[in-house]
Amino acid sequence: MNKIVNHLPTAELQALDAAHHLHPFTDGAALNAKGARVITAADGVTLTDSDGRTMLDAMAGLWCVNIGYGRKELAEVGYQQMLQLPYYNTFFQTSHVPAIELSAKLAEIAPEGFNHTFFATGGSEANDTNIRMVRHYWATKGKPTKKVIISRENAYHGSTMGGASLGGMKGMHAQGGLPIPDMAYIGEPNWYNQGGDMSPEEFGLMRARELEAKIEELGVDNVAAFIAEPVQGAGGVVVPPETYWPEIQRICDAHEILLIADEVICGFGRTGHWFGTNYYGIRPHIMTIAKGLSSGYAPIGGSMVCDEVAEVINNGGDFAHGYTYGGHPVGAAVALENIRIMQEEKIIENGAADTVPYLAEKWAQFNDHPLVGEVNIVGFMGSLVMTPDKSARAKFSADAGTVGMIARGHCFDNGLVMRHVGDRMIISPPIIINRAEIDQMFELAAKSLDLTLADIKAQGLYK
Ligand SMILES: *Cc1c(COP(=O)(O)O)cnc(C)c1O
Repeated sequence: MNKIVNHLPTAELQALDAAHHLHPFTDGAALNAKGARVITAADGVTLTDSDGRTMLDAMAGLWCVNIGYGRKELAEVGYQQMLQLPYYNTFFQTSHVPAIELSAKLAEIAPEGFNHTFFATGGSEANDTNIRMVRHYWATKGKPTKKVIISRENAYHGSTMGGASLGGMKGMHAQGGLPIPDMAYIGEPNWYNQGGDMSPEEFGLMRARELEAKIEELGVDNVAAFIAEPVQGAGGVVVPPETYWPEIQRICDAHEILLIADEVICGFGRTGHWFGTNYYGIRPHIMTIAKGLSSGYAPIGGSMVCDEVAEVINNGGDFAHGYTYGGHPVGAAVALENIRIMQEEKIIENGAADTVPYLAEKWAQFNDHPLVGEVNIVGFMGSLVMTPDKSARAKFSADAGTVGMIARGHCFDNGLVMRHVGDRMIISPPIIINRAEIDQMFELAAKSLDLTLADIKAQGLYK
């Protein structure tokens, strides 16, 4: 394989990066003081940086490289599509082959009754589409007051004005005048941190019933939709108690509102099924898709809508909304190839039968680690909650994230990319990860946790 190796030395790349590149979700001054880690190549589950060091990518980039790095077929399809038709749009009564074929393919793999997709270039844009689409849907049905979208604290639905408003992250709302009007929030089903003396089952029901209370408080005539990730990803891989989704579904069925499942992380195999909706048996009206749709090889996202919503939107006159690059031919062609490979190689089915249970068994062993208070795993997404006192589900005396940051540093130093959300460590590896790589990931994570424990004991942060 031809590898591009003749880049500038790391220090020079870092200096240019510091001089000219503003980074997302980053404290720029802190980054520039130490220099960014520059990733130059990847294959399978392994990243290579500008110094030639390799690391196991337990985050699949940003939860997206489901099929793993280095699949030549995706590169080839992107190249051929660029030669044949690098760009055309689907506005104003035109279409193109990749968008047509991808929308048909998505209808084939999605849950029953999902036969239409409105394309975007990523998850944030797709969620912006959802805001406008659900309000337009109700207005078209003669109910223009149904505008409020209910979401959850600590949810992540993207970073545009709409996406970040749908999200429930306080740190994001604090910047840039968010949220936009007509958003409401209920609590997250985070039993470990918020469940107190309740059992997980009781707590799950209680959190779900906050949705019903919120609908009643706002008046159902004012509520358009409820949006949620089947499993909260960026919030820290918060797996809801088993009672949660059935109760949410009951409430959505009982009241006239739309249910939006944000499948941007959960979709395309992450839960060991095609969609998180399949995993939980949820029946949403809209599903947001992106990330694993193209395994991150090209930007593409979209809103999949159920037949009822599609019918109303199709017959509601001009839907005055769209993105220049929505359903981009290259992104759509790459996504199709990604799905073709997932289907032909039975990547999701094989994973569900073999590596999903194997990973779950390995991950559960962290229950015995003195630093770990709770272990969560669904399919290929997992979290470890670190605590100074297991039995009390206690928090550290240091600011949230202090210990997470230390652990993340040890992971990097040991050649493992694992992210921290506060004091939770999270994984979301490529779903093609094999048993040997799972073993390696587990060993590196265990070693990093041991080193973290030693550090925080020395700093007086443990017990
Ligand atoms: C990443 C993410 C988004 C935003 O997608 P972008 O492609 O970054 O715009 C939306 N929802 C969820 C659940 C996500 O994880």
